[in-house]
Amino acid sequence: MVKQTKLLEIGHVINGEHIYEGETLIVENKFTNEHLATIYCADEEMVKKAVTNAKETFQNIKLSAQDRYEILSKAANILRRRKEELALSLTREVGKSLKDSYVEIDRGIETLIISAEESRRIFGQGVPLPNKTMEEKKLAYTVRVPVGVVAAITPFNLPFTLAIHKIAPAIAAGNTVVLKSAELAPITVAQIIDIFKEAGLPNGFINLVNGYGHKTGEYLLHDERINMYTFTGSVGVGTHIKNSVGVRKVTLELGSNSPNIIHKDAEDLKNIAQLCATRGLATLNGQACISVQRIYAHKDIFAEFEQYLTDAARALVVGNPEEVTTDVGPLISERQAERVESWIEEAVVNGAIVVTGGKRNRAFIEPTILKNLTPSMKVVCEEIFGPVISLIEYEEIDEVIKEANNSKFGLQAGLFTSDLNFVMRASAELEFGGVIVNDVSTYRSDWQPYGGVKDSGLGKEGPIYAIKEMTDEKVIIINYN
Ligand code: NAD
Repeated sequence: MVKQTKLLEIGHVINGEHIYEGETLIVENKFTNEHLATIYCADEEMVKKAVTNAKETFQNIKLSAQDRYEILSKAANILRRRKEELALSLTREVGKSLKDSYVEIDRGIETLIISAEESRRIFGQGVPLPNKTMEEKKLAYTVRVPVGVVAAITPFNLPFTLAIHKIAPAIAAGNTVVLKSAELAPITVAQIIDIFKEAGLPNGFINLVNGYGHKTGEYLLHDERINMYTFTGSVGVGTHIKNSVGVRKVTLELGSNSPNIIHKDAEDLKNIAQLCATRGLATLNGQACISVQRIYAHKDIFAEFEQYLTDAARALVVGNPEEVTTDVGPLISERQAERVESWIEEAVVNGAIVVTGGKRNRAFIEPTILKNLTPSMKVVCEEIFGPVISLIEYEEIDEVIKEANNSKFGLQAGLFTSDLNFVMRASAELEFGGVIVNDVSTYRSDWQPYGGVKDSGLGKEGPIYAIKEMTDEKVIIINYN
């Protein structure tokens, strides 16, 4: 294990200046509990300064599409160079395995490249006006214009990539950004400012304010000069943001309890079980918004699948996330692990059976599979956000579609089957932002439109789609003789 030797101090960044003022909070290594960094928290005055500067920058400096393309492309190259160091930093502050951290940085690179490419193809459309008489000569078309100042508020679980998923499209679209990352994991995100500076982004295009959600985050919500909020996090905070910001634009990427259906005709059950165990129990230690949480396995294959899934879960290596062989590290905090443990215990008291796992040790939860469940148990109907899978048997297609939809969430669903008719029916009837056929719900390409329905969110991410969200479509009507 590499020892953390240097203590970091992370301040706010406004117009390129690093400011070390305000209350402080400590960020720890989630495995060793070593002190990693001291973070300065922004008070209301600091947030106002950051927004004032972002507004002035937006009004005074216009970057051409080519400038934006070059800056975003350079940022991708800098990230490639700094990959190792940033991945290690992520593992320390989040507790996720080093393998996951490398994937996260690679996704950051990809997202920057897509955003760079898209910055050169932002366009509107011609608008026919067929209701007008032939005598009335008018030409109508739309252009997409940047919204202005975008506030980006991000979560702890994929802190780096999800911040890039907001900043890169915002810059590609010509906006300025005020960024507030999660107080539990703000270290690696703060490096984005230096990366963009080195890439040539002028000061003021990304201002950083750190701090707690209920203070720094809240001050952002009440600054009416912000034109748009792009948020990834919990349903509770997302709903609060939507209710607080009136008619201003909002995109919300929230939680879920993703269902994955394994039909009786699914091919290669062993491989599917391996995929489910990895993406439900190991990826981000089960703290992914699209984690495999509910598995509905057909009764004809239930016992065989249960055995494969149990074997795969037991083979996962739990331990120090800095070891390259580790699959599952600690959750973000002991408090969260206690919550997960209490939900497992509550399910067991009500009749659930622990197939494997179920125990907590400090912030670690053993990879856990539960069965004999009812739909109202928290482990089934709420977002567990830990390495716990609920395994449920079904008989009929009608029944499983109904059960999969029986959720307040609707982010992504997985379906394994060889039956084309089931695929077509599920694509039409599953109430989710994405249906992934013959792969698990825990699939996200940075190219795809990503976002949920119901309580899972509002609006889409993925640079191509986020740029649309972060621009207004303005109509131009030219009257001529
Ligand atoms: P969280 O909602 O607790 O915090 C997210 C961010 O909101 C943090 O920066 C926090 O400081 C801030 N915040 C908290 N209160 C605020 C307030 N009153 N005003 C403004 N900002 C405030 O979420 P978390 O625990 O960091 O992340 C986990 C959640 O994120 C899970 O529910 C997960 O499903 C969700 N998530 C969703 C996606 C997606 O793309 N749909 C991706 C990753 C995570």
